[in-house]
Amino acid sequence: MNTVAREHRTPAGPTSAEAARLLAEYGPNEVAAQPCVPLWARVAAQLRDPLITVLLAAVVLTLAIGDRPDAVVIALVVVVNTTVGVVQEVRAEESVAALSALSTPRARVMRDGGPREVPSAAVVPHDVLVLGEGDVVAADAGLTESAGLLVDESALTGESVPVDKAVSAADPDGRTVRSGTVVLRGRALAVVTATGADSALGRIAALMRPRPDPTPLQRRLADLGRVLAVVALSLCAAVFVLGLLQGQPAGRMGVTAISLAVAAVPESLPAVVTMALALGARHMASRHALVRRLPAVETLGSVTVLATDKTGTLTEGRMVVERLWTPGCTASVDGHGYDPSGRLLVDGSPPGPAEAEELRALLTATALCNDAALRPPTEAGGPWTALGDPTEAALLAAAAKAGLDPVDLGAAFPRITELPFDSVRKRMTTVHRTAGGGTLVCLKGAPEAVLTAAVLDETEEVLERARAASTRLAAEGFRVLAAARGTRHGFPAPAADAEHGLRLLGLAALADPPKSAASAVLADCVRAGIRPVLITGDHPATARALAVRVGLLEPDARSADVVRGADLGSGTVTDLTRPTVFARTDPGQKLEIVQAWRDRGAVTAMTGDGVNDGPALRRADIGVAMGRRGTEVARQAADLVLTDDSLATVVGAVEEGRRVYDNIRRFLLYGLAGGAAEILVMLAGPLFGLALPLRAGQILWINLLTHGLTGVAMGAEPVSPGAMSRPPRPPEQHVLGSGLWQRVLLLGTVVTAVSLGAALWARSDGRPWQSILFTALLAAQLGVVLGLRERLLTRANPFLPAAVLASAGLAAAALYLPFLRSVLETEPLSWGDLVGPVLAGLAGFVAARTQRAVARPRWTARASGRTPARPAERPVKRAGGTSLRPRAGTGMEPPPDDDAG
Ligand code: ATP
Repeated sequence: MNTVAREHRTPAGPTSAEAARLLAEYGPNEVAAQPCVPLWARVAAQLRDPLITVLLAAVVLTLAIGDRPDAVVIALVVVVNTTVGVVQEVRAEESVAALSALSTPRARVMRDGGPREVPSAAVVPHDVLVLGEGDVVAADAGLTESAGLLVDESALTGESVPVDKAVSAADPDGRTVRSGTVVLRGRALAVVTATGADSALGRIAALMRPRPDPTPLQRRLADLGRVLAVVALSLCAAVFVLGLLQGQPAGRMGVTAISLAVAAVPESLPAVVTMALALGARHMASRHALVRRLPAVETLGSVTVLATDKTGTLTEGRMVVERLWTPGCTASVDGHGYDPSGRLLVDGSPPGPAEAEELRALLTATALCNDAALRPPTEAGGPWTALGDPTEAALLAAAAKAGLDPVDLGAAFPRITELPFDSVRKRMTTVHRTAGGGTLVCLKGAPEAVLTAAVLDETEEVLERARAASTRLAAEGFRVLAAARGTRHGFPAPAADAEHGLRLLGLAALADPPKSAASAVLADCVRAGIRPVLITGDHPATARALAVRVGLLEPDARSADVVRGADLGSGTVTDLTRPTVFARTDPGQKLEIVQAWRDRGAVTAMTGDGVNDGPALRRADIGVAMGRRGTEVARQAADLVLTDDSLATVVGAVEEGRRVYDNIRRFLLYGLAGGAAEILVMLAGPLFGLALPLRAGQILWINLLTHGLTGVAMGAEPVSPGAMSRPPRPPEQHVLGSGLWQRVLLLGTVVTAVSLGAALWARSDGRPWQSILFTALLAAQLGVVLGLRERLLTRANPFLPAAVLASAGLAAAALYLPFLRSVLETEPLSWGDLVGPVLAGLAGFVAARTQRAVARPRWTARASGRTPARPAERPVKRAGGTSLRPRAGTGMEPPPDDDAG
C-alpha cells in the first residue's frame, strides 16, 4: 500500500492574474510548434509535380514552334493549378489545425483557491496540478501530496513497467512527475517546475512530432493516379501518333498530347480528398464529434460494429441510491438526483433504532471510502451536481439523507491511506484514524469482489444471503456495491492486511436510468448495418436488465445470454463475435473482444472513458472517447472525442463519414468520366474525319472548368437520404469498386458520343464544328455534374449550381471575349449553333440520372435484407417491440452499391 503523505493544507495555487503574468513571462506550455512553411516553398513543391513539369516543358515547346496562343493558355493553366494547389493545401492545413485546437489536452490546476480545468497550454510554473486516474501530466512538477500514485512513463522512457511515485520517496525522481506521462491510479497534487520546451516532453518533442501521414484513401488514390497516368499517357501517345499519320505537325501534336494528358489525369484528386476530409471533420465538430485523426473521417463511414460501454453512454450516468440492504433490514431511499434531501424508509416507515444504526454504519463507510463531492445548485431551482465519480456522489447524497455530513466525517476520521478503485480489482479501500488512536478500514466494491471469505470475516450463511440479495437487486437493473468495515489497533503494516477480516455492512443499489434516446440510436445503428455490442464492467444481471430495456436483448433473454469477462479465458466462449452483451469485463478483455471482431474483418468503433481503456481505444478502428466524463488519457488515445458524451453523435459521425466518402466517389465518377471523354474524343475524332478535334488550349480550358470549379463544389454535397439505411461499405472495397469503373466508362462514352455527334452535325451543316465540339463537351460534363446530384433541387449546397453557372459563364467568355477567343482559337457561336451543345448538356444530364436510377434498386435490394444474418446473430429488439435483425456486422457482406451519383 502506498503510504499517503498529506499536507494538512491544500496549496491554493496562483490567482488568475498571477497565472496570466507567469504565462506572459514563461510562454505557453507547448512543445515548439511546427515551423511555418514559406509560400515560395509551397509554390516550389507544386511546381515539382510531374504533370506541372510536363506542362512547363509544353510552354517552352509551344514558344519554340511559335504557337503563342497555346503557350499562353498552358502558362495560365500552370498558374491556376499552382494557385489552387497552394490555396487548397493551406486551407486543409488550417482546417486540421483548427480541429486539433478544438481537441487540445486539458489539465486540472488550483487557481484562485479552487480546482479549475484549463487547456494544458495555459499551465504555468508554480501552478498546482491536481492529478487523478487517467490524467496526462501537463508539465514537470514536484509532488506535494500523493495517494497511491502509479505513473506510466513509457511515453518518455519507453519503460513499460509503471512507476510508484510518492512525496515520501527516497529517490528525488520518485517525488516528481514529468510531462507527457500518464497517471494510472491514485491522486496527487504537484507544483509545476517546468513547462513547454523546458519540460521533459519539450526536450524530446522533436522526436515525437507527429508526421501527417496520408490517409489510406489518399494512398489508394495516389496509386490509382499513377495507374491512370500510365493509361492516359499511352492513350495520349496514340493520339500523338494518330495526328502525325494524319499529317499534323509534330510540334502541335506534341503540345496537344501533353495537354490531353494533363486534362485526363485527375491530378487534383489528393487535394480534393484532403479538403473533403477536412471539411467533413469540421462538419462533425459542429455536431459534437471532434476528429483527432483525419483518416478517421473516411473509416467512420465503413464502421460495422459499435462496441459501447454502459454508464453515461447508454444510461444517463446520473446515479441515485434507491435501495439499501443490511443483514438486518432492507430500506428504500427517496429523493431525486444528487439532491441530499430525502428519507430512508423501511417498509414505508422510518427505520427503528437498530435498523437506523445499521444503515448509518453502511452509509458512513461508503461516505468515508469516497472521493466525490456534491455541488449545490448554481441557480434557484437548479439541480445538485456531482464532482467526481457519479457512483460515489450518489453514495454521498444517500449518506446526507441519513443525516451524515461528509466534511464532519472526514474531520472525525481523517484518511491516512487508501487503495484506490480500479476496474480490475473492482473495489476501493480507505484507512482512517479514529479518535481513540486506532484505525478504521472502509471498503466498498462490486459484490463479487467483496462478498468473499478472503475479505470478510462472516459466516457462509450471511455471505449467501448477501449474494442472493445482490443478484436480486442487479436483476432489477441496479448497480450494486457491497460495503465492509474493520477496526484495527494501530496502523495495519502490510497492505494486504487492510482488506482482510472485515465485517459486512450491507449493499447499496444505485439506479441509473437508460437515456431516453438510447433504444432509438441502437435501432438506427441496426438500420445502418452496424452491429451494436454492449461491453460493461457491471454485473451480468444489471447489464441484462439494461440490454432488454434498450432493445439489445429479447425480454425473455436469460442472464446466461450475457457473457462474463471471466468466461472469455475459460474456453466456454469460443467465438467472441457472437454475444451482444458482455458483463464484468476488465479493460484487457475489451481489447480481446475488439481484436476478435477485427480478425473477422469488421471495422470497429469502441467507446471508452477510463484510464485502462486506452489500449482498446487504440486497437479499435475508431476509438471514441467521452469528452465530458472521459479521462484525458482516453481522450488522447481516441480518434473521435464526443463533446456531448452521446452515442447518437457517433451515429451522426458515421453518417458524415458516409457522406464524405460518397462525395469523393461522385467526384471520381465525374472527373474520370470527363477525362475519358476527352481522350475518346481525340482518339475517335480523326476516324470521323475531324482531323484535330480540339486544340491544346481548349482541352485545358475544359479541364479547368470541370475539375477545378465544379469538382471542388461537389465535395460539399449533402448527405443522401438513404445513407443510413444501407449496409456499410466493405472496408476492403476499392474506391472505384462496386460498379464505379463501369459507370465511368459508360458516362465517358455517352459524353463522347453526344459531343462528337454535335460536331459531326455542325460540320455537315457548315457550322464552326470545333467550337461547337468544345462547347458540347463542356456542356455534357456540366449536365453530368448536375445529374449526379442526389437531390436535384436541394438548397443544401448552393456552391454546385453556382459553380455550374460560373463554368457556363467562363465557357461563354471563351467563345465571345476577343482576347480569349484568339488565345483559345474559338469562334463565336450563333443561337442556331448552340442547339448541339444544349442537347449535349441535356444528354449528359439524362445519362447521369438514368444511371443513378438503374444503380439505386440494386443497392436498395441488398440493403433491404438480402444480406443474410449469420445464424448465431441475435435479432435486435426495438423498444417498441418489432425485432430488427442486424444485417451486417461482419464486414463480409456483398459490397453495397453506393450513392455516388
Ligand atoms: P460501465 O460499462 O457501466 O461504464 P465500467 O466498465 O465503467 O461500467 P466499472 O466502473 O469498472 O465498470 O465498475 C465495475 C463495478 O465496480 C461496478 O459494478 C461497481 O460494483 C463497482 N464500482 C464502481 N465504481 C466503484 C467505486 N468508486 N468504488 C467501489 N466500487 C465501485
